[in-house]
Amino acid sequence: EAKRSGKNAWRFCEAKSQLIAYENMLLRRDLREAVERGELALHYQPLVDAQCGCVVSFEALLRWTSSTYGVVPPSRFIPLAEESDMILGIGKWVLEESCRFIHKLAAMGNEDIHVSVNVSPRQLAADDFVALVRETIDREGINPKQLEIEITENVLITSMEESTRRLSELRAIGVRLSLDDFGTGYSSLTYLRSLPVGTLKLDKSFIDQILSDVRQLQFISSIINMAHVLGLAVVAEGVETEEQLEKLVECQCDFIQGYVFSRPVTEKEALLFLDW
Ligand code: C2E
Ligand code: MG
Ligand code: MG
Ligand code: MG
Repeated sequence: EAKRSGKNAWRFCEAKSQLIAYENMLLRRDLREAVERGELALHYQPLVDAQCGCVVSFEALLRWTSSTYGVVPPSRFIPLAEESDMILGIGKWVLEESCRFIHKLAAMGNEDIHVSVNVSPRQLAADDFVALVRETIDREGINPKQLEIEITENVLITSMEESTRRLSELRAIGVRLSLDDFGTGYSSLTYLRSLPVGTLKLDKSFIDQILSDVRQLQFISSIINMAHVLGLAVVAEGVETEEQLEKLVECQCDFIQGYVFSRPVTEKEALLFLDW
């Protein structure tokens, strides 16, 4: 009997994984046309200076409303895009759209606000990536300082040397660089010292634990101190409550991003955060 139910459970798992594979196939097919169909949009989440409480930048976050499947979250479709070269076309669109928004910000007199864009390992690895960034900046006529590129630690696992070189080239153009999701991967203090990034983004999973016990708070505080010693600014991601915010300010965290201030919003709504 136990043997049979075990077998059924196995069959169920197999059926489930086949279903997911099938769904992925359908999503992939639709995603391929999402850019041309105009189904993609960027939303912008403000980052706030922990000292003055003013908005200093926005993170551009991709949204996909499929005409067939409705709203598909990034956690569902970004990995599918990253499996193939699809992420290159999508990433190009994200870069163009972000630079267009930056142009708009600057034209309204917000020349100190910057916009950060998430870049996948495959994009950074493409031979023409640096040229693409330079061309897009030139075409929109924006100040490169208003563009920030977010990379994750995953970029470094496969080709540390190559990635570092590419990041240095980007830095030379004048764009800002940040290390996203810090604390989720194989965070190594060694590479943190040698990477040409200016900002460290503490992952939400760190922030979630901040109130659980005092040692956790001391741990995060130490990471922030260490980042400062290395000359890096620190962003806390996924800050949801006033209590978390208070603790992070005490820990000298530089910037706050999270629902405590705002969810990612449309371009129009984002502009309302700025006084112009
Ligand atoms: P990420 O770059 O770490 O972005 C931060 C994520 O945390 C966003 O999720 C944001 O909506 C969410 N978030 C911010 N504050 C809070 C909070 O207080 N509470 C909670 N629960 N969540 C918060 P989102 O928009 O779903 O994006 C997920 C991930 O998808 C991003 O994580 C990024 O890795 C990827 N992604 C999004 N847009 C792009 C893109 O244009 N290109 C690439 N390559 N990846 C992207
Ligand atoms: Mg990010
Ligand atoms: Mg992040
Ligand atoms: Mg994250």
